[in-house]
Amino acid sequence: MIADLHMHSTASDGALDPGALMRRAAAADVGLVALTDHDCLDGLAQAAATAEQLGMRWISGVELSAQWQGHTLHVLGYGFDPASAHLQQAMLAVRDGRWQRAEQIAQRLAAKRMPDALEGAMAIQLAAGSDPQSPPARPHFADWMVEAGHVRDRAEAFRKWLGAGKLGDIKQHWPELPEAIAQIRAAGGMAVLAHPWHYGFTRSKLRRLFREFAVAAGRGIEVVNGQQPVEQVAYLGKLCNEFGFLASCGSDFHHPDSPWMALGKMTALPADCQPVWDDPLFSR
Ligand code: MN
Ligand code: MN
Ligand code: MN
Repeated sequence: MIADLHMHSTASDGALDPGALMRRAAAADVGLVALTDHDCLDGLAQAAATAEQLGMRWISGVELSAQWQGHTLHVLGYGFDPASAHLQQAMLAVRDGRWQRAEQIAQRLAAKRMPDALEGAMAIQLAAGSDPQSPPARPHFADWMVEAGHVRDRAEAFRKWLGAGKLGDIKQHWPELPEAIAQIRAAGGMAVLAHPWHYGFTRSKLRRLFREFAVAAGRGIEVVNGQQPVEQVAYLGKLCNEFGFLASCGSDFHHPDSPWMALGKMTALPADCQPVWDDPLFSR
């Protein structure tokens, strides 16, 4: 059975709506599936209904942003109650924060003779099929700047205005790591650290993170993220067992035009890792 427990729909930054995403997963022979949009539960009902129609096992999922020692980390949640008022509330607070950030970016650009950036970025985002309730992000601002003739291309937009340390680089306040884990657990789910290799940490820092993740009642780590090199997977598999975590795997699919992140296409989980779907949460 192919399990793909990490993917995005138009409810966050994916290209396909939840129904189309589930149909594509079923066509790729995925048997166990989770939709894990960024800080958003809006796609879950449609994903669940379509997955059931297509005969796939489905579990609730989300990818929360969290902060840890000044870094932004991603925490996957599985098996929670999608109707949990507590979790819904937390997602709304994050969305408010994102709107505030988008407004601040637009104000700063207006002060640099680039007026109406928010409206422009929202139009770009709508044209891409995104949920109109979700605020535009920096790539949308970048595309608007190109369209409005303020820069030549997206790269210039980031280099001059939106990239790290530039005027549009406004830090968002995310929950601290233990708080993000607690939010998932309070809604009845389990927390899994997403793509531990992506943060660029040294091996000793990765170990420190794993220790703190375990202390905060994190239950697993994503040992396989897409078509990750076998050596990275083997290393994470070893750490996974050492810390007593369950192992998860997912494609992190966003767009059909990124062949290196295709649904259901992943490096194999090491045979000696215990998969997350062995947990009773997955067989409710
Ligand atoms: Mn994403
Ligand atoms: Mn992520
Ligand atoms: Mn992701």
